[in-house]
Amino acid sequence: MISHKDLDDPQTREVIIIGGGIAGLSAAIYLGRAQRDTLVIDSGHSMAKWEPVVGNYLGFPEGVSGDELLEYGRRQAEAHDVRFAEDEIRSISSEDEEFVLHGKERDYRAKRLLLTTGIFHLPPEIPGVKECLGHSMFFCKDCDGFRVREKRIAICGANNEAVEYALGMLHYSACVMIATNGEEPRWSQQHSEWIQEYEIPVHLERIHDVEHRDRQILRLRMEGDREVKIDNIFTTRGDVFHTELAESLGAELDEDGQVRVDDQMRTTVPRVYAAGCVTPANCQMIIAAGQGATAAQAMNRDLFEESLRNHSLRQFRDVQLRDEETVPEGAAAV
Ligand SMILES: Cc1cc2nc3c(=O)[nH]c(=O)nc-3n(C[C@H](O)[C@H](O)[C@H](O)COP(=O)(O)OP(=O)(O)OC[C@H]3O[C@@H](n4cnc5c(N)ncnc54)[C@H](O)[C@@H]3O)c2cc1C
Repeated sequence: MISHKDLDDPQTREVIIIGGGIAGLSAAIYLGRAQRDTLVIDSGHSMAKWEPVVGNYLGFPEGVSGDELLEYGRRQAEAHDVRFAEDEIRSISSEDEEFVLHGKERDYRAKRLLLTTGIFHLPPEIPGVKECLGHSMFFCKDCDGFRVREKRIAICGANNEAVEYALGMLHYSACVMIATNGEEPRWSQQHSEWIQEYEIPVHLERIHDVEHRDRQILRLRMEGDREVKIDNIFTTRGDVFHTELAESLGAELDEDGQVRVDDQMRTTVPRVYAAGCVTPANCQMIIAAGQGATAAQAMNRDLFEESLRNHSLRQFRDVQLRDEETVPEGAAAV
């Protein structure tokens, strides 16, 4: 059967998704199944790669690695005819209702854009920490709190969030401390009172380094020779939102620097959508996947309505009427 996208200009995609992480792949599967001409452009740095055992994603009772989840998603999208390009989009311009994307490798054109560019969690600059990322050093208690039940846990941070993190971690472990790594505490009087009330130890010294073996943290070595035996570090996140492209198109950000979207994942720029951690989502894989699906459905609807307005659906119908069986045998023709 001829597809409507066979009639389109092959140089211009109906949808380009910038970012082939969890949100982008989920959107790609929906758009592929909706028969939309879709290209995913990805620079290959999904945060999902940092998680060796995702335990909170539906359908994997034994857990699944972030890498595997990305691979399954890509295979599923490719099975629905979605194309992929390894590239990094540097800038975007608009021309005649189309977007022109300027990549490191080449340029691309699209009628609709979905930005699923994600964020980057900044690990604390303590020697030894980076090696333990995703194994014994974490950013997110919703993701990894369950994994560290009954362990000795240090929360790195000096603000209200660090205190709330420490209090929240009491559900998982009795042994929780705060390490400010030499920073002067910035928490409020109320948070200070909570530290007292819940008897949370606080270490104010700078952390010299983290001793670890096979990515498992063993102890914090503080300046001044103190060593604290711990199993896990959680850090209050310094997040870098990958919003440069959205901003260059004029999309509004919220007060935290995330791309503002409505309940259909539309940004404030017509024909531009965003999903996943670059938006004010709670940065979880299943939420990113759900947002990707929401955005894809909204884009599909939007393109469908456009095809009624500009009669491109009628042109497609003309081809069907000319080349295909359009009336079931035995049914009356209109
Ligand atoms: C250590 C760690 C552990 C985690 N564990 C869990 C967990 O157990 N469970 C859970 O639910 N979540 C977990 N997360 C969070 C999870 O990784 C994110 O929620 C998820 O990856 C967000 O999906 P996304 O599509 O928004 O972004 P990402 O998956 O990060 O994908 C964004 C993609 O966009 C690409 N990109 C960005 N800019 C460009 C550009 N200009 N051109 C082309 N491509 C571009 C990037 O290369 C990347 O591939 C964890 C995160 C970390 C850091």
